[in-house]
Amino acid sequence: MTATGPGTAAEPAAAEIRERARRIADGPIRRPAPERLQAEVDEFRRRTSGSAELGRRAARVLARGTEHVDPLSFPYPLFMRAGAGSRVTDVDGNEYVDCVLAGGAILLGHNHPELNRRVVELIRERTNFHGHLDELEVEAGEELAEVFPSIEAVRFTASGAEANLAAARIARAWTGRSKLVKFRGAYHGWHDQFLVDIEVPGSGRFLAGGIPEAYQSETVLVSQNDLDELESVLAGGDVAAVFCEPVGAESGLVPFDEGYHPRAIELAHRHGALYVFDEVVTGFRVGLGGAQRLYGVEPDLTTLGKALMNGYPSCGAVGGRKEIVDTANVSVPDERPSAYVGGTLSGNVLSAGACVHAVRLMREPGVLDRAIDAAGDLVARLNALFAARGFDFFSYRFGSIVKTELTAPQAVPLDDPARLGEVLERRELLSAYMVPIQNAGVLSRLGRDMLSCAHTTEDNERTVAAYGRLLDVLE
Ligand code: PLP
Repeated sequence: MTATGPGTAAEPAAAEIRERARRIADGPIRRPAPERLQAEVDEFRRRTSGSAELGRRAARVLARGTEHVDPLSFPYPLFMRAGAGSRVTDVDGNEYVDCVLAGGAILLGHNHPELNRRVVELIRERTNFHGHLDELEVEAGEELAEVFPSIEAVRFTASGAEANLAAARIARAWTGRSKLVKFRGAYHGWHDQFLVDIEVPGSGRFLAGGIPEAYQSETVLVSQNDLDELESVLAGGDVAAVFCEPVGAESGLVPFDEGYHPRAIELAHRHGALYVFDEVVTGFRVGLGGAQRLYGVEPDLTTLGKALMNGYPSCGAVGGRKEIVDTANVSVPDERPSAYVGGTLSGNVLSAGACVHAVRLMREPGVLDRAIDAAGDLVARLNALFAARGFDFFSYRFGSIVKTELTAPQAVPLDDPARLGEVLERRELLSAYMVPIQNAGVLSRLGRDMLSCAHTTEDNERTVAAYGRLLDVLE
């Protein structure tokens, strides 16, 4: 496998990344000149009248006229019509190099012909057998057990969020304890226990509207890379599990120090807690077998989603040692620990089939390396661009996940509450930064770019040109 991510020869170490992000956060906010931004917004409107029209309809019947990735909706959301490989086309016929890739779920590329053929065959032949099993679910479990070092068995769920919800419940039932440790800034889905302190470390309950404080009273927040803090929490003896995004919060936006996890796992086990790798993003993006294979560690539970089914729906799984995963149970409890985990669409035939075939395709030699190598190429090109143009922006990657640090809201220290307004401005600016990038025919998720096995050098050249256009607006 291609060496990947910070701490490898080709990449800066985690501490250096955090330090460079902090320097950006402490520096001036780079606001585009209003007339330049306006010119880009005008150009965006000129190219996307069909999306504008659909946006007006959406505003009437969809909550706030949008869905999950709200910040990508400035000045209004784009509506897509087609996708193939690394490219998508919007309803106005504009083609984009897609570095959003459905939040990273599309790893083999859009509309992968072989995967589609298999899924269409299933649609013709089978149906939802909920209540009964299908051989494909077993095959999917077998594939995952072969690929992930720590996985012997799985329970499928309908999303990554559900996978983490399931892992939390399993861990609590298994240990008989109630507390869950979550790292500040990390995202594990939108359910009650984990939707606290997401995106910007220190932001606390800022985005936790609708969730009573009491529901989060058993969630303990700790800072990444502070083993002493983790140990003092674990020492209370009431922690069921420590959850982490293994490359760091927000898919590595705040990276973990190299060597953190083995020591943290050892601490968790010494104090009777489980250690959970949320590999919903890293599962296949840092290579086959996820971050656990890359780091050579075995978490007790692993949660998966996204690329697991290359974007096909009802996608999620929790896996681990058989005896722990067997805790998932919807029947009358026996002498074993028991936690209710299930759902109508979990492990349905189409999802299980998409999983089997997506994983088999990703297991073919060299396939995942194509995305990882494309990411390495993009990082090198972007860093050369920023250096040549005298910007302090910088890019790094974990496997096929590319991060480009632009305004660095997550690096603003929120122990100074006076800086909250600045965090919000830095975050909002990222939405504006995307307009010239989109006008140049590239989709980026606020500077977090996912690459697929279908991305080419030509795609990367276009992406670099798009970032160049952003720099033009900021100069
Ligand atoms: N865990 C991580 C690390 C994620 O990035 C996400 C989604 O972005 C989730 C869990 C939630 O997955 P889903 O959106 O499928 O519920």
